[in-house]
Amino acid sequence: MSAVNLKAPVTVAYGDGIGPDIMQASLDVLLAAGAQLDLDVIEIGEGVYRRGYSAGIAPEAWDSLRRTRVFYKAPITTPQGGGFKSLNVTIRKTLGLYANVRPCAAYAPFVPTRHPAMDVVIVRENEEDLYAGIEHRQTEEVYQCLKLVSRPGCERIVRFAFEYARANGRRKVSCFTKDNIMKLTDGLFHEVFREVAAEYPDLEHEQWIVDIGAAKLADTPEAFDVIVMPNLYGDILSDVAAQIAGSVGLAGSANIGERVAMFEAIHGSAPRLAGQDRANPSGLLLAGVMMLNHLGQSAVAQTVHNAWLATLEEGVHTRDIWREGVSRRLVGTRGFAEAVIARLGRRPETLAPVTYGANAPFAPPRARLRPPAEKQTVGVDLFVQWRGAPDVLARRLQRLGQGALQLKMITNRGVKVWPDGLPETTCTDHWRCRFMNGGGPVSLDQIVALSARAADAGVDFIKTEHLCTFDGEPGYSLGQGQ
Ligand code: NAD
Repeated sequence: MSAVNLKAPVTVAYGDGIGPDIMQASLDVLLAAGAQLDLDVIEIGEGVYRRGYSAGIAPEAWDSLRRTRVFYKAPITTPQGGGFKSLNVTIRKTLGLYANVRPCAAYAPFVPTRHPAMDVVIVRENEEDLYAGIEHRQTEEVYQCLKLVSRPGCERIVRFAFEYARANGRRKVSCFTKDNIMKLTDGLFHEVFREVAAEYPDLEHEQWIVDIGAAKLADTPEAFDVIVMPNLYGDILSDVAAQIAGSVGLAGSANIGERVAMFEAIHGSAPRLAGQDRANPSGLLLAGVMMLNHLGQSAVAQTVHNAWLATLEEGVHTRDIWREGVSRRLVGTRGFAEAVIARLGRRPETLAPVTYGANAPFAPPRARLRPPAEKQTVGVDLFVQWRGAPDVLARRLQRLGQGALQLKMITNRGVKVWPDGLPETTCTDHWRCRFMNGGGPVSLDQIVALSARAADAGVDFIKTEHLCTFDGEPGYSLGQGQ
């Protein structure tokens, strides 16, 4: 009879720079605490980039990730120069790791911060928004980056944030968006937040416009608990939150998908500290604590986290957090790991101890299917490169209008310049020219015919964007200028 392997399979990468030092230290602590892990080591980073793999990961590494579904990753050094792709972005997108979870807690008075009561978790959407990487130079003067936001993408991340809050004994979920300006994309995120929040009456919820929300977060972070955000805001504000907690070097993060999850420190490979036994392994160790919780090994996660807090408050510190009067014993990477191991089973006395496993773990949520909306095409925006006055352009384009499709409006960078534009408006060479049928339906043939007439007339159009309604609601901005 073969023995059953109760150990959780985990893919491990030691990375570059300080990666090998801090990974060894973290694994030593986790295993000493009783973590049941079956490790499969893969190589990523500099050496793999040099062997010609443009994303820093070799094809066979994917087999390991597909098999174990859990990745414990040390930081890598991204080579300078063109032609190299970000390994993290590649992994997140390839494996569908849609949720980036970053706890940002203060450890005052042992780590200095202006916000000793701060304990925020940022849940950042990881796959959509401006990170699709679809950019175009459209005219001599104007460049574009597409911001893509999907309803399933919003639903998954928002529901993840509420599930995370519930499973971790949190009381409130806040949402940051800029839907006063981006009414369709950020508006969708906000709308989904409102819908999903109604499914969690046991949790408080609130909405902030991202700019004032960010200011409040920087000033009074203790007012927040879990915050869910679209990709770009989350990217920026999770670094702000980690910094003001005083602990950029101490923060871990999780990247969670429906099938695979990745755990890592938020800092990089600190090449100047490589191989010197000086780096602080805490960020990667706390990422390891998140991994143990993900694997259902919550008792071990709790033991490690509490021993780590006890080590911190006893003043056993690496050089990066050393402070006269607070720190008592200067240690290197290995010495720090040994100090945590020596305290396994202890709880902190000043800092609040953690308790894990009280609530059931949750499966990463999937988006729910919705009945399709009734879609109707009602017009087209013709984007044109042109230098000159808007009225002259309008007269040229009015001649293209035929039957159902008539020129209704021209905007420049979103500001209406025809009809009834103001002479003060600064115009670029990039014009959005809207053709509609007074709200009635328009066929694709009519749009193609309009484009053909524009081409015949020598109009330099650089793209068309169809205007559709969905269940009667306009699926396009109204272009009044904001
Ligand atoms: P970094 O985070 O490596 O270093 C920033 C500063 O923090 C340095 O002064 C460094 O010495 C210090 N530091 C970082 N981690 C520390 C630790 N654990 N203990 C003590 N001090 C620590 O950022 P960087 O210098 O901008 O980037 C270095 C390399 O890391 C670059 O190649 C970058 O592309 C890469 N990077 C990788 C990841 C990742 O793999 N997830 C993330 C960020 C940066």
